[in-house]
Amino acid sequence: MAEQTAKERTRSKPAVGLQPTGEVDWSNYRGVMVVVEQRDGVAKKVSWQLLGESRRLADKLDAPLLALVIGHDVEQLAKEAIAYGADRVYVSDSPELKDYRTRPYSRVCLHVIREFKPEIVLMGATYTGRDLAGAIATHLPTGLTADSTQLDVNEERLLMASRPAFSEKLLATILCKQFKPQMATVRAGVFEALPWDDSRTGEIVRVAPQMSADEIVTEVLEFVAEKSRVNLEDAEVIVAGGRGVGGPAGFQLLDELAKVLGGEVGASRVAVELGWIEHEHQVGQTGFTVRPKLYIAAGISGAVQHTVGMQNSDYIIAINKDPEAPIFKFANYGIVGDLFQVVPALTKAFKERVGKRQETPAGDRTPLHVM
Ligand SMILES: Cc1cc2nc3c(=O)[nH]c(=O)nc-3n(C[C@H](O)[C@H](O)[C@H](O)COP(=O)(O)OP(=O)(O)OC[C@H]3O[C@@H](n4cnc5c(N)ncnc54)[C@H](O)[C@@H]3O)c2cc1C
Repeated sequence: MAEQTAKERTRSKPAVGLQPTGEVDWSNYRGVMVVVEQRDGVAKKVSWQLLGESRRLADKLDAPLLALVIGHDVEQLAKEAIAYGADRVYVSDSPELKDYRTRPYSRVCLHVIREFKPEIVLMGATYTGRDLAGAIATHLPTGLTADSTQLDVNEERLLMASRPAFSEKLLATILCKQFKPQMATVRAGVFEALPWDDSRTGEIVRVAPQMSADEIVTEVLEFVAEKSRVNLEDAEVIVAGGRGVGGPAGFQLLDELAKVLGGEVGASRVAVELGWIEHEHQVGQTGFTVRPKLYIAAGISGAVQHTVGMQNSDYIIAINKDPEAPIFKFANYGIVGDLFQVVPALTKAFKERVGKRQETPAGDRTPLHVM
């Protein structure tokens, strides 16, 4: 036999852990499960958004919608998960699970998956979600589609998780045909949570932690919050700027308006590439997908790669000196004008309103509507 080259040897070798051994019957796997991410008993918005989309998938599959809550003193999150659409919630509540650590959390997930056999498992594509999903998928083993932006199921009950690929030029739809559960992490802000309904009823199933304190080798000493961290995903107001802002000084104007409205500053990719603002502010296909109550787009033309990341905002105000700018098609309110005049005028007007409100005794205040 001719000697194999190193390349051929690698090619002919079955990838370890990637083939099911023998005939595996996956038919008893049923249900769509969302792993709820929380810190200090407060859930990440993406978890409720995922429950909203998963409700649609579960209904299409005629299967239950499940949630898994892990933490300490998190019982109320199980009720919240039901109010946001879950039929059954598994809760693992224990002091050892207070802070996220990969091993104790993944052990609980693996136990729940093996015991209750959901056919689909989803979590947010956050730092924690990516870490946990990777650990679980490797152990099971199963396939994992990371950072999905679209989800669906086909008639063979296969999850179709789509995500941008090849420098965002393609949308790839990925299926996991050989293993269960099918897993995906999903970008925050893409889906909408169902309206809160606390009249919904559901089952709560308690699950024991799967590791004792002395088995856990890592310890969380403290959390030091990054002071300057921009939080576009959870922001209720975003004031975003593009090439029209003209430079870092223009972003100062946007920052002042954002501060008065209690919001964050966003940016188009052009503004980031020109070095006027850091990438963590970028909204769009290669930046964050956001869903604030109010999105103000100043000096942004409205390219599809930008609008895909902000079009689900509740209200959009566009400020642009070109009346034909495509951004106006997405805006609830459009201001045709020079942002260097419009933005300071808005900041001044909102400052006055906020000032008047603070002078009024708390009980007599009318709610501050930004519009
Ligand atoms: C693979 C890929 C991924 C991408 N991902 C992203 C992404 O994630 N996010 C993103 O934003 N883009 C992304 N882009 C880039 C995108 O295609 C556009 O080039 C970009 O969004 C345009 O940015 P802009 O609107 O700031 O600039 P421009 O399109 O140049 O628009 C500037 C606007 O400012 C207005 N203006 C100028 N001066 C003023 C003034 N004084 N007052 C008021 N208005 C003024 C102009 O009328 C114009 O409409 C991506 C592109 C590719 C190919």
